[in-house]
Amino acid sequence: TSVRKINFGAGPAQLPLEVLENIHTEFLDYNGTGANVMELSHRSTTFDKIILDTERYIREILTIPDSYAVLFLQGGATAQFSAIPMNFLNLKPSATADYLVTGYWSEKAAKEAEKFGNINLVVPKTSKYQSVPAEDTWKLTKDPSYFYYCANETIHGIEFEDIPSIIPKDVPIVCDMSSNFLTRPFDITKFAIVFASAQKNFGASGLVLVIIRKDLVEQNTNKSIPIILDYKIHMANGSMYNTPPTFPIYVANKMFDWTKQQGGLKGMNQHSEKKSSLVYETIDESNGFYVNSIEKKYRSRVNIPFRILTNGVENEKLESLFLSEAIKANMIELKGHRAVGGIRVSLYNGMTPEETKKLTNFMRTFQTNHS
Ligand code: PMP
Repeated sequence: TSVRKINFGAGPAQLPLEVLENIHTEFLDYNGTGANVMELSHRSTTFDKIILDTERYIREILTIPDSYAVLFLQGGATAQFSAIPMNFLNLKPSATADYLVTGYWSEKAAKEAEKFGNINLVVPKTSKYQSVPAEDTWKLTKDPSYFYYCANETIHGIEFEDIPSIIPKDVPIVCDMSSNFLTRPFDITKFAIVFASAQKNFGASGLVLVIIRKDLVEQNTNKSIPIILDYKIHMANGSMYNTPPTFPIYVANKMFDWTKQQGGLKGMNQHSEKKSSLVYETIDESNGFYVNSIEKKYRSRVNIPFRILTNGVENEKLESLFLSEAIKANMIELKGHRAVGGIRVSLYNGMTPEETKKLTNFMRTFQTNHS
């Protein structure tokens, strides 16, 4: 374990050591099969049990009712950017979907959806995402096919604490929860579709989880959807129309089990609050040495971008030094996304409060030495 570094990457992200060790013990022989899970048929009884247990765990964690399907798909969250408009843009006579663009990822989703029909941008386009315009300025469609938003913008570090209250109750809400899924409790029944890529909070890339209202899927009559993006096909086949991402599903199974042992979403939420408070306190107590420009109520608990300033000016040289000294201190993947620069700290479920404390201690020492 001494070779392991503390990985603050935005995803694929660090997993809990005990989960990795558990996978390690089963690596050559899963449960007496004499094979690794990745070597087993997806139609085998062994894998069937794995996928059913995985679904059962996530249904328990989120209290997902039977009226929702849980799909284990490929193509990442990005594939859902296409699948959602293809399947649902024409759900209502308006044939228009509302998109709330609050950063890089919702912008990408809206851009993709525009290929397939009418998209209404709820707030004006901007190049700087540091807050969300007040709800009473939003331009909403009357009876849209759905309302789309991203619960946590991984690059810009903007997070919604809850569903925007202005969305009318009968509008199907579609939410990209890729980066904050399982970091706090939420009521699945308020959503039509929630999707999340696995590589941040529940394991390995190659798997995207889609939780979707069955009645919506059934309403879709569009016959020209590519089969791999057709939710109806996946639902009818229990995510086994073709070979599902078996190994990432197995890892998700381990992660969901681990999440339950940590006290479920309540436990994860407590960790999340603790970790993000440590980092934001360090930033806010730095007298402008570290700066996070996101409006406080939208500050993300999971992705925290910040800049390092000297005399009020962003200092890229000092940021490079921060990154190289962090690496020497065994802390990796802290470089900000190229779209915003600076530093980014990602605090997914696999990151512990103790490890986060090591980072904030490092930040305080770095500031003392360089300001
Ligand atoms: N949405 C969000 C919020 C993300 O953070 C990401 C990946 N970083 C994506 C979508 C795209 O996910 P994927 O690469 O799995 O397609």
